[in-house]
Amino acid sequence: MKKMRPHIDLHDFNPTPQKTRLCDHGGCEQEGEYRAPKSPHNLREYYWFCLEHIRDYNKSWDYYKDMPPEEIDTSYAVCSKRVGI
Ligand SMILES: [Zn+2]
Repeated sequence: MKKMRPHIDLHDFNPTPQKTRLCDHGGCEQEGEYRAPKSPHNLREYYWFCLEHIRDYNKSWDYYKDMPPEEIDTSYAVCSKRVGI
């Protein structure tokens, strides 16, 4: 008599595989979980970075310290919302 095996459908383990978005930092293969606006003047388009590179990217916003403060505040708010830094 055959032993009954529980039927396992492998598809059930990953019912909705999500497309992994890779970090936009060149050559980085981490998942791009954090978004950052491409520039203070272009807050509607985003890069997606891993945690390490979102931090690097946030630092690079110092470049824009000559910008009007309102715009910088907006940029930082968008950047740091999900990162919590
Ligand atoms: Zn990265």
